[in-house]
Amino acid sequence: MTIFDAATAAFPLLLASTAAERASWLGAIADALDGAADELVELADEETHLGPVRLRGEVARTSGQLRLFASAIVEGSYLEATIDHADPSSTPPRPDLRRMLRPLGPVAVYAASNFPFAFSVAGGDTASALAVGCPVIVKAHPGHPRLSRRVAALVSAALDGAGAPRGTFALVEGYEEGVALVQNPAIAAAAFTGSVAGGRALYDLAAARPDPIPFFGELGSINPVVVTEDADKTTGEALAAGLAASFTLGAGQFCTKPGVVFVPRGSVLEGSLLQHLPAARPQLLTDSIASGFDRGRERLLDLPGVETLVDGPSVVAATDALTHEMLTEVFGPLTLLVRYSDRAHLTGLLSHLEGSLTATLHAADEDVTDLLPLLEQIAGRVLFAGWPTGVAVAWAQHHGGPWPSTTSQHTSVGVTAVRRFLRPIAYQDAPERALPDALRDGNPLGIPRRVDGALTL
Ligand code: NAP
Repeated sequence: MTIFDAATAAFPLLLASTAAERASWLGAIADALDGAADELVELADEETHLGPVRLRGEVARTSGQLRLFASAIVEGSYLEATIDHADPSSTPPRPDLRRMLRPLGPVAVYAASNFPFAFSVAGGDTASALAVGCPVIVKAHPGHPRLSRRVAALVSAALDGAGAPRGTFALVEGYEEGVALVQNPAIAAAAFTGSVAGGRALYDLAAARPDPIPFFGELGSINPVVVTEDADKTTGEALAAGLAASFTLGAGQFCTKPGVVFVPRGSVLEGSLLQHLPAARPQLLTDSIASGFDRGRERLLDLPGVETLVDGPSVVAATDALTHEMLTEVFGPLTLLVRYSDRAHLTGLLSHLEGSLTATLHAADEDVTDLLPLLEQIAGRVLFAGWPTGVAVAWAQHHGGPWPSTTSQHTSVGVTAVRRFLRPIAYQDAPERALPDALRDGNPLGIPRRVDGALTL
């Protein structure tokens, strides 16, 4: 039996599983990761050079997000269970309608390079798909193959031990396998974290299938930061330190790295930024990321109108005249300062930005109603007086934004990431015995529902 046959066979069993059962599977995976943390961190450090402190934190984040999804599915509001009782007196007469979200089927997950735990084999995509009852086949990232195999073995053993059906989880490796995965008829949806080019190629394959499937790509992002004149005057020095720390964190290998920073001409921030830069750059994640960084850096620094402020372990460039070519993500420790002359110039520049995961505003106690709509339009998360690199895993989180930062309007971080792997079904005049528990009279699961228009808790 192939892994695809096994996933297909497992799906009806997952569909019939309870939230409590799936929560116990997620808990078993979380416990297995925590229990093997020492070994996993060592292995991850050998392959990614991200350092034990960061990696240990990432294991905890990964087990924490598995447990968060476990608690969310038991709470049940994610099902959006909705009941409209029959109303023969309405015009036209209304039948009994009951709607909820149901799992899509086996999901393909493409692991990321830069989060070897949190966005990899047992990361957020895998956790959110398993949570709602979708079998998962992960395509390992070639940047950490031994770690991927070890985590996959732990996940498989934890699922077996917790009683999950055979075929619930599998791992594939290799470029060709990744291409074949999204095209396999058994796969009902795909989630990807990586570059715009890679994500676009797989997205096009998903759309070109005889039966197109949803493809949730979390791609590249420039994450604009806006510093107003007042903010620069009052906190420019501190902002310089904060920016230096944020764009060089993890050698700049964050999809949320601030890549473009709008500053007033002659800013305090620009004057003091270079003194805050780290003296050394850690090794980049893979040879292809390192060569991609060199290509992107050279391309940007060679563009007419771009001034190189520093080209060392980290890279800072500046421009007085922004062009579209300057707005391509360079994955690594590089940021571009865009100098503006006045507020009208700034708002004009912002109106040309494309989609990003985040947009950040540093303003003093001033009116920002001209800036906010422009930032909301291009970003999935708008930050005030902070730095975008950290992404908290929470119910209210949104990690996504307009193209090219993602291929959809959904988040890949936080509880609502589960929506990607669900689709609504409405049951009309269904007999009680045919209904899922979530929609039965008397609310046997005790979950939040909307009944005849009113939320019931
Ligand atoms: P990548 O080159 O796109 O690789 C990611 C995965 O896609 C790998 O498994 C790779 O497989 C596969 N792949 C790439 N091109 C492909 C193609 N044409 N056809 C089929 N498969 C393909 O990404 P990366 O360089 O490892 O990671 C850096 C990028 O990820 C940055 O742009 C960063 O912003 C982005 N990222 C985004 C997020 C987010 O949440 N939005 C988070 C982290 C990173 P093979 O290598 O085996 O070919």
